[in-house]
Amino acid sequence: MAKVCVIGSSSMDLVVTSQKRPDAGETVLGESFKTVPGGKGANQAVAAARLGAEVTMIGRVGDDHFGRIILDNFKANSVNTQHVEPVTGMESGTAHIVLAEGDNSIVVVKAANDEVTPTYVDKAAEAIRSADIVLIQHEIPAETVVRVSAICAESGTPLLLNPAPVRSVPEEVINHAAYITPNEHEAAVLFEGLAPAEALRKYPNKLFITEGSRGVRYFDGEQEILVPTYKVEAVDTTGAGDTFNAAFAVALAEGMSLQESIRFANRAASLSVTKFGAQGGMPTRREVEESL
Ligand code: ADP
Repeated sequence: MAKVCVIGSSSMDLVVTSQKRPDAGETVLGESFKTVPGGKGANQAVAAARLGAEVTMIGRVGDDHFGRIILDNFKANSVNTQHVEPVTGMESGTAHIVLAEGDNSIVVVKAANDEVTPTYVDKAAEAIRSADIVLIQHEIPAETVVRVSAICAESGTPLLLNPAPVRSVPEEVINHAAYITPNEHEAAVLFEGLAPAEALRKYPNKLFITEGSRGVRYFDGEQEILVPTYKVEAVDTTGAGDTFNAAFAVALAEGMSLQESIRFANRAASLSVTKFGAQGGMPTRREVEESL
């Protein structure tokens, strides 16, 4: 079993559907309300576990009701929560989502996710060093990403950086990362001033730009390669990127080639968009293998 260590956010998504989005000062009646566990870190941890990896999550929740649900959800998906410590006197991260008029509006409150600090990850450094691959995103403090990249560089553990949501990344993190996986929008911000083709050439076999229903593009040292994804009936693309990253990490950790790993990840991510919800749509290993 591949050992995957995920350092990142966990949250509870509070989702309301409504005919109308309320204006400032206005109250409207909604139609439905549900709570679903989310956060890019948690989503990627759950996706990797469903794909058969031994997953350790390094993150934080609040000492509240949502924190207990988030922890239960990790356990239900066989994610090791030894390094998911509740923060005393603090709320869990939440995303307040209004689905109205064919679009969503979201307010994110990071809360306990801001406590995934460099000092906190230092206490879990052994889990990072002993992993086959480490997976990190941007919903935790920037200093923590720097620290994790240094720990990985020291121990020679491959680091996969999914730079979402996008923010600038220090050169040392780019250098230490083995794989970087922005979508097109994130790549444009991250490598401002470089055309996508130039950025790909600058980071051969390291930079993988995901292009939604088109697939994934990278430069292999000689030529630019587009690995097409699978044609599916897309129902909900939430969490496609999270599934892609988790599956890519699992495949690489198992020693699959780059192309095989991308194909495996495209297959997993394309299956995830055929179902509702981020974690709701994440496929099991068997589902991916049966459809490859
Ligand atoms: P994000 O969700 O982070 O914005 P993308 O939209 O680029 O990222 O999607 C990530 C990956 O998910 C793609 O590279 C592809 O493998 C898969 N994917 C996304 N949308 C579709 C789709 N409509 N059909 C098939 N695969 C998809």
